[in-house]
Amino acid sequence: MFDEFDDFFDAGPMIKVCSKCGCRIPRSSSMDLCKECMKKELFPKVKEFINNNYDVNEMMVADEFGIERSIVHEWVRDGHLEYKKRPQF
Ligand SMILES: [Zn+2]
Repeated sequence: MFDEFDDFFDAGPMIKVCSKCGCRIPRSSSMDLCKECMKKELFPKVKEFINNNYDVNEMMVADEFGIERSIVHEWVRDGHLEYKKRPQF
């Protein structure tokens, strides 16, 4: 029913909230933003990073922006972004 809220109940008084919109985020989140705000804030930069660099992968993007790989994966899929291969000569 409310499976997605399990994290919040477990978090007790140490609940984290998004620094932008104030909605609750899982304490395990490495960011101070909820997924929505994170996307608004970082997606354009991630897109630029992927478009401007060769041989980028999920892990590099995750490292560069300090976000989880699963989130990068989602954005790339939803944003129809393509990782560029370095041209072979
Ligand atoms: Zn937010």
